[in-house]
Amino acid sequence: MTTQPASAPASTDRSRSLALYLHIPFCTAKCGYCDFNSYEGLPGHLVADYTPALVREMELWAPAAKDLTVDTVFFGGGTPSLTSLDDMSQITAAIRAQFNISPDVEWTLEANPTELSREHLDGLRALGVNRLSMGVQSLQPEELTLLERLHSPERVIEAVRDARAAGFDNLNLDLIFGIMGQPLSKWQDTVERILELRPEHLSCYALTVEPGTALYYRVAKSQIEEPDPDVAADQYEWTRTRLAQAGYEQYEISNWALPGRECRHNLVYWHAEPYLGLGAGAHSFFLGRRIANVDAPNRYVEAVNESWEERQATGRGELRQIAGGETPDEATQRADAIILGLRLMRGISIADFTERFGVSPDDAFGPAIAKHEALGLLERVDGQLRLTERGLLLSNEVFVDLLPDEDDD
Ligand code: SF4
Repeated sequence: MTTQPASAPASTDRSRSLALYLHIPFCTAKCGYCDFNSYEGLPGHLVADYTPALVREMELWAPAAKDLTVDTVFFGGGTPSLTSLDDMSQITAAIRAQFNISPDVEWTLEANPTELSREHLDGLRALGVNRLSMGVQSLQPEELTLLERLHSPERVIEAVRDARAAGFDNLNLDLIFGIMGQPLSKWQDTVERILELRPEHLSCYALTVEPGTALYYRVAKSQIEEPDPDVAADQYEWTRTRLAQAGYEQYEISNWALPGRECRHNLVYWHAEPYLGLGAGAHSFFLGRRIANVDAPNRYVEAVNESWEERQATGRGELRQIAGGETPDEATQRADAIILGLRLMRGISIADFTERFGVSPDDAFGPAIAKHEALGLLERVDGQLRLTERGLLLSNEVFVDLLPDEDDD
């Protein structure tokens, strides 16, 4: 699940850094809860055409990124681990040819346990992938069935063991709690068995039933109950305590890491720093603009090819894969910075915010901050503004009050 620098080295000039995201939209089967831009059963020729299109999109963007250094690369999806090693080899070679890559680049690939063979893991390591993010979600067979995941709990254990043997020493495992009918004891059992694997990083998300998903229709037809938010809150509280005991630091609402193993790529998102997204449906915040590519993989491939051919013929041409873009105004940039920053446990530095925008958080968001401080959802500690423990559970109530008004400048 993707979905996205307090950990950035102090010496790094963040203004010259870039995070690169590549979207691989293919999946073996669509999971019941998934509303990501992912597809099962796409024709083979489209899968074959996708890698050359990604390489061409890199060529189209590379001149604009020539003065930047890529600190993190993230293959998300979809299921990037479905991409063959031949295709991965072409993609990674193109990244290295088109962009300046930091010597200590964090290079993450999202993977499903089902398809991860030892040979594939060895190949990924040899290509430079140094962080693996595995969609585990649960170690309870009945929960995996309900979520329409294809793997078994045993496959997860094997895949982690194989990843370790292949040399991956930076593993994230994604888990889902708050599943309908999931008692606290089942969630505890999953977490305890996951802790035995000692991943460097854990992402624990509450299940949300998104409109348009298979799960949504099953709930709408009363075939299954809705998730119980009170049970999810108890599970979340227990998780925070248990993972702290186990030595994991919670650094974001849904993310925990062993010391120094935060996800550098996702910290770029939470710090509202630039990132360039490539592939179908990928989003960017690049050169001061928010950009979204077309979702449909066939349209994406066609559009990139048209743009690339035009660029070859004329030396210029629009980027037709872009479905929409906007330059966020000052009010939107401030709102992005505070809402994304408050997702981090340390919150936002009041001094840094003031330096970045020329206005303090209190001047920009005074009534909303005062309201949520009074409600006990926000607090100030050592020059930081952050969510309280209660605020972690009710963060959306805070965030909605920080969104810019329609008529703000
Ligand atoms: S594997 Fe991930 S991206 Fe693919 S359908 Fe399942 S949840 Fe969605």
